[in-house]
Amino acid sequence: KLINDSMGFEVGDRILREVANRLAGSIQAPQWLARLEGDEFVVVVPDAPGHQVTQLARRLINVIARPYQHQQAELHLTASAGITTHIANVPEPLELIREADLASAQAKQSGRNTWREYANELASDVNTRLSLRTDLQKALVNDHFSMHYQPLINGFTGRITSAEALLRWPHSDRGYISPSVFVPIAEESGLIVPLSQWVLHAVCRDKAALNRKIMADFPFIINISPLYFQHPRFVEELTHALATHNLSPQDIQIEITEGVLLERVDHTISKLSTLRELGFSVSVDDFGTGYSSLSYLKDLPVDKIKIDSSFVRQIAGDRKSAAISKAIISLAHHLGLKVVAEGVETEAQYWFLKRHFCDEFQGHLFARAMPMEQLETRLRE
Ligand code: C2E
Ligand code: CA
Ligand code: CA
Repeated sequence: KLINDSMGFEVGDRILREVANRLAGSIQAPQWLARLEGDEFVVVVPDAPGHQVTQLARRLINVIARPYQHQQAELHLTASAGITTHIANVPEPLELIREADLASAQAKQSGRNTWREYANELASDVNTRLSLRTDLQKALVNDHFSMHYQPLINGFTGRITSAEALLRWPHSDRGYISPSVFVPIAEESGLIVPLSQWVLHAVCRDKAALNRKIMADFPFIINISPLYFQHPRFVEELTHALATHNLSPQDIQIEITEGVLLERVDHTISKLSTLRELGFSVSVDDFGTGYSSLSYLKDLPVDKIKIDSSFVRQIAGDRKSAAISKAIISLAHHLGLKVVAEGVETEAQYWFLKRHFCDEFQGHLFARAMPMEQLETRLRE
C-alpha cells in the first residue's frame, strides 16, 4: 500500500509479481502457491513434519525481505507468516485459510518478519488444555490480559461509529493465544465468570477514560459469553459496573451469540427485554451459523445482527453466500433491525454489501483490532 501510495500502482504491482516469483522459486512440488487478494499468498505443504513447515516459513520470509530494485533505489518489504497444521480431520480450505490468516495477524502484531502458528493443536491436546486452565487462573489473578478495540464503520457516512472490545492474552511461554482458543477453555472450567467480570470492568474503565478526553457518542461493544449471560447476577453486575465508572447504558452495547438461545428461551427473551428497557443496545453475533431457525428473530428483542464473516468472505466468489447475505439484510430491515457485516476484507465485499444497504462494516479493510491509544489517535483524525 505504501508503495502504491508513494510510487504508483504499477510499481506496487510489479514488485508484488516479483514477490510471487521469488516465492514460486523457493518451493517445490508437491508444495504449491496461490495468490489471495492483495498482498496475501497461500502456500500449501502436504505431508510434511511441523518443523519443516516452520523452516520453510522462515526461508520465505527471508526471501521476501531481500531488497527490490526500482530505478536507482532499493526497496525493502517485510513479511508476516501464519501457519496452521492438521494431522487428521483437515477442515475446509477456507477454514484453513482463516486459521493461517489469524496466525499471520498475530505475527504482524509481534513486529513483522516473523511467523506464528495457529493455536489449533493447543486446543486439542488434553494436557495443554489443563495447563492453559491453570495459566488462565494465574493470568486473572495477575491481571495479565488486555483489551483491543476494532472500529465499526457507518455505511453511509464512512465514519467510525463504535468499537468492539476483543480480549487479548499474551501468554509468557506460548506467545499470544487467540480468544477462540482460551474463551472455550474458560467456559468449560467456570473461569468465564471472573474473566467476563474482568472484561466488563476493563472496558468500562477504558470507556470512562475516553469520555473524559473525547466527548463523543461512541459506544464500546462487549461480547458476552452465553454462560455469563445466563448467570443470575449478570444484569446486576453490568449495571453496577456502569455505575462504578459513571457510565450510562448508551456507552456500552452487548453482543450475544445464538448460543444463548440453546436453553431456556423464555428466560433469555425476558432478560433481553430487561436489558433493552434499561437502554442497552443488543446485537446477535455470528448470525446464520448457529442452530436456531430464522423464525426466532421476530420474537427476539434485539437491535442489530451481525452477518457472520464466513458468508462475507465468500460473497464475491459464491452466489449462494451472496444470496444469503442479501436475504439476511433484507429480512433484518423488514424486522426493523440494523445489520453489521463482519470480516470485510476486500473492496468487492464492501461494495456488494453497501449496494444491498448493509448499515455498518467491520473488518481488516477498514481497521484491525488495536490498543486503546491507537483507537484514540484514529478517533482524532
Ligand atoms: P467475534 O466476536 O466474531 O470477533 C470477531 C473476530 O474476527 C475477532 O477475532 C477479530 O479480530 C476478527 N476479525 C475482525 N475483522 C476481521 C477480518 O477482516 N478478517 C479476519 N480474518 N478476521 C477479522 P479475535 O479477536 O481473535 O476473537 C475471536 C473470538 O473470541 C471472537 O469472535 C469472540 O467470539 C471471542 N472473544 C473475543 N473477545 C472476547 C471477550 O471479551 N469475551 C468473550 N466472551 N468472547 C470474546
Ligand atoms: Ca463479536
Ligand atoms: Ca462474529
